[in-house]
Amino acid sequence: MPVTVHFAAGPAAWREYHDHLPRALADAGVQAEILLTAPDPAAVDYIVFAPSGEIQDFSPYVNCKAVLNLWAGVERIIGNTTLTQPLARMVDPAMTESMVEWVVGHTLRHHLGMDLHILNQDGVWRNEITPPIARERPVAVLGLGALGRAAGEALAALNFPVMGWSRTPKNISGIDCHSGDAGLAAVLSRAEIVILLVPLTAGTENLMNAERLARLPKGAVILNPGRGPLIDDAALLAALDRGHLGHATLDVFRNEPLPKGHPFWTHPRVTVTPHIAASTRPLTASAVVAENIRRGEAGEPLLYLVDRARGY
Ligand code: NAP
Repeated sequence: MPVTVHFAAGPAAWREYHDHLPRALADAGVQAEILLTAPDPAAVDYIVFAPSGEIQDFSPYVNCKAVLNLWAGVERIIGNTTLTQPLARMVDPAMTESMVEWVVGHTLRHHLGMDLHILNQDGVWRNEITPPIARERPVAVLGLGALGRAAGEALAALNFPVMGWSRTPKNISGIDCHSGDAGLAAVLSRAEIVILLVPLTAGTENLMNAERLARLPKGAVILNPGRGPLIDDAALLAALDRGHLGHATLDVFRNEPLPKGHPFWTHPRVTVTPHIAASTRPLTASAVVAENIRRGEAGEPLLYLVDRARGY
């Protein structure tokens, strides 16, 4: 009997997945019927989900063995009380590569002071500033999961002294790992560039509040490819305006798309990128979904299960 997979991520996503997902399931040895609508929810074995899709109420899916999210972040689904099935988040190797590239690119922009030359081609020979080399520029990655660890390791490979911070203690070669409140305070007091890659949970909302922003060395730069509410926006703007922070490069926002009149759009020391740091890539993500369905059918533990109590 084929397994029934309800692709509930919406028609736009299906246009991107309709080639890849059937092939990935076949490659994984899974015989599957993929449905775009589920007239009989009780017949569904697996739901492929994205917050852009239509399912709000998971309770009719009484035989569903797992909900497989196409997004890495689960903050928009985890509070859904009708969702009692196991929930897996997306860890996609191509998404990880893309995040590493975004983080390294924006870190190097600020580290090298690239704007000085890119924005000032006015005939003036400005050679008085010699930027430090990477080994002289401490950076911090908050969150050492799939994305934060990969980004931290890439920065360490360029010789940046990388500090990392996570909920539980870690030991990662090339990264000076910290955890807990005292660990965060120590990391922030030294970091000239801070990268936010923790998930949005009750424990991380407004993580970068006025007090923690004030701990950063003067001129520090913040990169946020995590989630908008990790930063207290008013505190960020105040820290930029008084010159304590040098720049903020933000990929994610409390409201997306970022509303037209938002001060971030026009602030001289804010760069907005429109949530493009790391999209899920259908080719590689399909293989992850297929592998999880294969595991589910073989009675093996699913990959990347979300812990509801932790919130990620
Ligand atoms: P992950 O593998 O779940 O890793 C999360 C990391 O954050 C872990 O190291 C975890 O600590 C740490 N953490 C969680 N809560 C914490 C707390 N209260 N204090 C300290 N550390 C905490 O997540 P991921 O796959 O790396 O993704 C991270 C986030 O990136 C996603 O949740 C999503 O919001 C964002 N994202 C953005 C984009 C984009 O395009 N902008 C794309 C993909 C993902 P432990 O290791 O101790 O558990």
